[in-house]
Amino acid sequence: MSDTMGIGGYSPLLDAGAIYGVFEGKQCSGSLPELCLGLLDRQKKAWPAAAAGYESLGSARERELKCRGFSVRVQQNPGRSKSTLADVGEKGVAGRACFLCPANLPKEQKGILYRDTYLILCNPMPVFSSHFTVSHLDHRPQGIAGAVVTLLQLMSDFGPGSSVLYNGPRCGASAPDHLHFQVVPAGQMPIEKELRLERPAFRRRTGGVSVYRPKGVGRRVVIMDGPGPDAVGEALHALVKGLGIVLRTDLEPMMNLVCLRREHAYTVLVFPRAKHRPDAFYLEGEGRLAISPAVVEMGGIMVTPLERDFERLDSALVEQIFNEVSLDATTVEAAIDAME
Ligand SMILES: [Zn+2]
Repeated sequence: MSDTMGIGGYSPLLDAGAIYGVFEGKQCSGSLPELCLGLLDRQKKAWPAAAAGYESLGSARERELKCRGFSVRVQQNPGRSKSTLADVGEKGVAGRACFLCPANLPKEQKGILYRDTYLILCNPMPVFSSHFTVSHLDHRPQGIAGAVVTLLQLMSDFGPGSSVLYNGPRCGASAPDHLHFQVVPAGQMPIEKELRLERPAFRRRTGGVSVYRPKGVGRRVVIMDGPGPDAVGEALHALVKGLGIVLRTDLEPMMNLVCLRREHAYTVLVFPRAKHRPDAFYLEGEGRLAISPAVVEMGGIMVTPLERDFERLDSALVEQIFNEVSLDATTVEAAIDAME
């Protein structure tokens, strides 16, 4: 914390006053999760938007919904309205100032400088009791290809108590034009528990990493389990490439990622996507459904800002949404087969 000199030199946009703490990988000043919780505590007191976001989460209504073979939690959280209904199309993004660029942060918002390259920020519209955004210092597009190393480094630095999340630029990222991840408490999303219970027979093994495709969870998910970050990173690259081959696209295949650490295991859940939002999202009037599936929803927490949607969401509707936004099983299996 003492040495913030030169931060302004690293990025002229980053004011030293925006820095709450610095994490460089040395453990001298405590663990990264502790540092982040300290930031959160401070932000709730000093930044009214964060205080309001956590207050909204505190009064959010939740209920469990049993579906065929799995369950989800429905959360009515008016504080998420901006996020759920965000216009993340090219025009919408081009027409707004980027809220993750250091120069545009509200003056009350502080961050932790992470390994000289990223800023860890409190998400002022939380879904979890601690919800952080890890945002690149520079304005550069959301994309996994060049960021797998960071993803794995975050898993190592945060440890088993946290999950690291990623939304693809076309399926849930709130800022598709600015590279970022999320970090949330581990074990909070229903799918984490459901998939921990049992693994199906693995579909293939590559470089020490087991690749599974569990069925009966209502959406398509590929699990990659490996003993260390390098092997899991290779497998993730291979799956992304495999999806690109079968989908015949040079763009990043649509997907959301949940990354989990256990003591000696690295696990990545990949949700391959066919669509960002269900068709009902775009309807006018009564039929409109204000649910915008991103990584948290694919993990089993269906967030809606509206009471009407909270009340009417049932298992059939959840199954329909998951089915609609997931990539079909045949294509997912072909992508696993195409991994090199
Ligand atoms: Zn930006």
